Amino acid sequence: MTPNRRALLVASVLLLAACSTGASPFAATTSTSRPEPTTTGAPTTSTTVETTTTSVAGDGSGVGDPYFPELGNPGFDIEHYLIDLAVDPVANTIEGEVAITATATGDLDAFHLDLLGLTVDRITVDDHPTAFSREGGELIVSAEPPIPSGEGFAVVVTYHGTPEPLTTIGFPLGWIDAGDITYVVSEPDAAHTWFPGNDHPGDKAAFTFRITVPEGLTAAANGSLVQTLPGGAVTTFVWEMPEPMATYLATVVIGDLDRVERPAPGGVLLRDYLPADLEGQLPSPLARVGEMLEFYAGIFGPSPFAEYGHAVVPGVPGALEDQTLCIFGREELEDYQAGPFDPSIEEIVAHELSHQWYGDSVTPATWNDIWLNEGFATFAQWLWVEHDLGRAAYDEEIANTYRLLDSASHPLPGDPGPSGEEMFHYSVYLRGGLTLHALRVAVGDDALFQILRTWADRYAYGNASTADFIALAEEVSGADLDALFDTWLYQEEMPPMP
Ligand SMILES: [Zn+2]
Repeated sequence: MTPNRRALLVASVLLLAACSTGASPFAATTSTSRPEPTTTGAPTTSTTVETTTTSVAGDGSGVGDPYFPELGNPGFDIEHYLIDLAVDPVANTIEGEVAITATATGDLDAFHLDLLGLTVDRITVDDHPTAFSREGGELIVSAEPPIPSGEGFAVVVTYHGTPEPLTTIGFPLGWIDAGDITYVVSEPDAAHTWFPGNDHPGDKAAFTFRITVPEGLTAAANGSLVQTLPGGAVTTFVWEMPEPMATYLATVVIGDLDRVERPAPGGVLLRDYLPADLEGQLPSPLARVGEMLEFYAGIFGPSPFAEYGHAVVPGVPGALEDQTLCIFGREELEDYQAGPFDPSIEEIVAHELSHQWYGDSVTPATWNDIWLNEGFATFAQWLWVEHDLGRAAYDEEIANTYRLLDSASHPLPGDPGPSGEEMFHYSVYLRGGLTLHALRVAVGDDALFQILRTWADRYAYGNASTADFIALAEEVSGADLDALFDTWLYQEEMPPMP
């Protein structure tokens, strides 16, 4: 994701003004809860009763993330989601059937899925209709007979309704009806507003999407388009994302869209989805993505995914690095005006691409390690500047960044805090990036790039923590780096300029 660049211009006071909603993410996740009666498979009627009931971590309702304790669910590991949605973009409704295959990691007589809003019609476990209930963002499913630890099982949830966006980080997240185009941006916690699952980055899974839309419209999602099935008044687009993906990176984009393909190095298919009125003309900031891909593959290792591209959509204040399909705000691409401390729009394009390695393939185990996404992508954008404009331009960017950070107090990148204005504060990006620059100065270029490549390779398609990164950096460099990471990530006082 891009930082709130308005915040880069001045002090953090303005960031709060631009970004704060006054609502905590936990308030947001309970505000639209619609409890339903327990059922044994018969379609249920949703009630209009509002509740403020919240579940607490430790009772099956979450995996205890430091920032989002209710997200995710203990007791099982999901391997695959089949998300089958029939979408009416005019009414902004979906009819969904999500088939989940999972393995129990403990004996289960019931388990939770994350799902907020929408009406659940029916749930089966291993083809048997089963009872369920709802409490806030928790969908509680009975397993009869119980599922023994280690056993695989299949859950199918049939549901419908209008997904309601959340405003955890200050602008709408989740399933966004933007008029002519419908799209999804979910980071960090809005995936469970449009499909049931384990909505925590610690449980990554492969995905298949079957998205049915009115004839004439196009549906894009993560991975590869494997089938387009005409069906009279509708068309079904089937997308496969075989490499594991965190739920927050799952996306669907629907509209009158043109698919534009272009050659890319290293066998990676570059395909972008553009609003039809652009008539297939790529916005100019996207022109050099092939070059960027080649550069990053050279220093970080081969692209983790077979395809990459952007969906250009209205209203997104920046971009989100959804796996293989970056969602990019059209206004950003067409009207971006960089201020004195802002990255160029081309740097933002590079930043989002680099997340395919750092964030999408290697994903933080918990949300407090968000700097592993944003610090890395920021450092990667500076490396593109160095590659493109020379070391002096890189050094200037480092010096400007240091001056900006040194001039005001800010959240600590290693543990910024759970609200949107903390997690996505510019210090997570910039001081996180400077942490990698400080590492570069400490261990030298050879060791630094070996660390980055090994990180991308060893934890590919998985999860890792800051402690894992420090251990890896020490292993590769042979240096004791605890003090370096502690002062850069966790101490109030800015360390000296490296
Ligand atoms: Zn980012």
